[in-house]
Amino acid sequence: MPFLLATDPAKPDRPNEDFAAVGTNAAVLLDGAGTPPGTASGCVHGVAWYARTLGGLLLGALGSDDTLSGALAASIEHVNRLHADTCDLKHAETPSSTVVALRWDGTECEYLVLADSVLVLDRPGVSPEVITDDREAVVGAELRKPMDALPTGTPEHDQALRDYVAALAEHRNRSGGFWVANTDPTAAHEALTGRLHLDEVNALALLSDGATRLADRFGLATWRDTLDTLAADGPAALIAQVRTVEDSDPHGQRWPRGKTRDDATVIYGHADA
Ligand SMILES: [Zn+2]
Repeated sequence: MPFLLATDPAKPDRPNEDFAAVGTNAAVLLDGAGTPPGTASGCVHGVAWYARTLGGLLLGALGSDDTLSGALAASIEHVNRLHADTCDLKHAETPSSTVVALRWDGTECEYLVLADSVLVLDRPGVSPEVITDDREAVVGAELRKPMDALPTGTPEHDQALRDYVAALAEHRNRSGGFWVANTDPTAAHEALTGRLHLDEVNALALLSDGATRLADRFGLATWRDTLDTLAADGPAALIAQVRTVEDSDPHGQRWPRGKTRDDATVIYGHADA
């Protein structure tokens, strides 16, 4: 299955905290999370380092016979070892990441989805199947209300965002809360996993939540529209559409959101490409 990949940082002068890569039998997409600028994290490397290091190790580990969850757990432990000597891995704001992973052979594809990045399956004749873990959104819905009441880009909103991130951290990787990749390898076993025959799908898309806003936040596109844009014009065109809409609402008055723009990343695989 041929793949197309596009990624765009929220701001050109800030590190892209998404990471995506496609190998010969596997693909990974991660959306690093945590610590807005000015917040202590205990990690001298930062969120972008965490996402690309975990993603690179995971892509390699998917070449083993281990399960997807097992490969992710081993990769989380591997990253821990890489910075245990320099960083405080017990810090509440230690970098974390979503993970979407695929691994395929000639006929079948396995998938893993941890936290709120999205895997969309385009099956012939039916509505798109959207696979994502919404537990963080459920927990966050109450916690984010004070932030969403303030105009994006103001000092008050920035402070409310820091408060929100700190409150959310209390629920991270706890039973009854939500699960992401950070330092606890058991989070890997909380991921949604499945398997499909490659001939069941026309296409599939992996998206960070910065790239899904038209469909899941702004209400300006359906998932079918999203897949149609990807099929016709490719991942960079979808991200460009998101940027146009974001720039039309720079203060988040029409669409309240934590960040005016977010890092946006798409991997698109199409059976007929
Ligand atoms: Zn570190």
